[in-house]
Amino acid sequence: MRFYQATRFLFPRNFQFRMFSICFGAVHLPIIVFCVAELALARWDWRLFTALLVATLVGTVSAIAAIRGLLAPVAHATALLQSLQRGEPVSAVPSGGDDLVGALLASVARASAETHKRVARLAEAAEKDLLTGLRNRRGFMDAIAPLLREERNSVVAVLDLDHFKAVNDRYGHDEGDRVLVEFAKRLQTELRRSDLPARWGGEEFAILLPDTALDEATEIVERLRASLQRDVIGRRGGDGLTFSCGLAVVREYGSLASAMRRADSALYEAKRGGRDRVKSMA
Ligand code: GH3
Ligand code: MG
Ligand code: MG
Repeated sequence: MRFYQATRFLFPRNFQFRMFSICFGAVHLPIIVFCVAELALARWDWRLFTALLVATLVGTVSAIAAIRGLLAPVAHATALLQSLQRGEPVSAVPSGGDDLVGALLASVARASAETHKRVARLAEAAEKDLLTGLRNRRGFMDAIAPLLREERNSVVAVLDLDHFKAVNDRYGHDEGDRVLVEFAKRLQTELRRSDLPARWGGEEFAILLPDTALDEATEIVERLRASLQRDVIGRRGGDGLTFSCGLAVVREYGSLASAMRRADSALYEAKRGGRDRVKSMA
């Protein structure tokens, strides 16, 4: 580091030029010594001077080209690290030999792979509900955006577990959590692969049923309701778990907020109508 620091006055912002200038000086040393010696001896051998001058020029050009080539992977590694720092995708890192540059490129490749893995893990964690493993609200919004890009008939469902406070009050919060996890599993088994369930918050869930007519969506949610009657979750002397659901048609992402509002109103209707039922709004 000491030599590097001491030579920083030479092209402080350009490392390559600093190397070129040091190389330029080193290559010119023989011809300088020759000139000084010839002048000291008061003579001048033109033929020797010309040969030395040609050798010096060829040496300078070759050395600069070689150093430029050798520094290229270092410049490339630096550019890759800068892209990584900006959060941009990094193209494949070239592999080097069993030397300093090879070790540098291998470290950049490792840093890039680690960063991508960490970013993917964080992105997944930010979009996932910790308790149920379903998508959270943000994950839901991100996942459905591409599905609603083209104008198609899809349905959004808002589900709310009935009298869930009573589950907590009667059996404790941990049992409440277990019921939520069980219900999330049931959503995943009863819905189609194309349907997108998410935990909207608390004991409320949202589902996007893409490319689905309202009748078909109603049938699917009724099937889920029937499955809870058949195979009860959370009964311990008390009633089995039920839910109320509101459905609304959504045709494009821009109208999702209004569709969610209509689904919410339908859910409210379902609650008012006595719970454990499905209501829809076109
Ligand atoms: P309703 O049929 O009107 O929806 O009644 P409800 O009791 O389900 O509704 P309310 O909004 O009164 O209560 C919701 C309960 O859900 C209260 C809250 O403690 C519980 N809850 C929300 N999130 C969680 C959670 O993550 N774990 C547990 N165990 N309970 C939760
Ligand atoms: Mg609620
Ligand atoms: Mg509820």
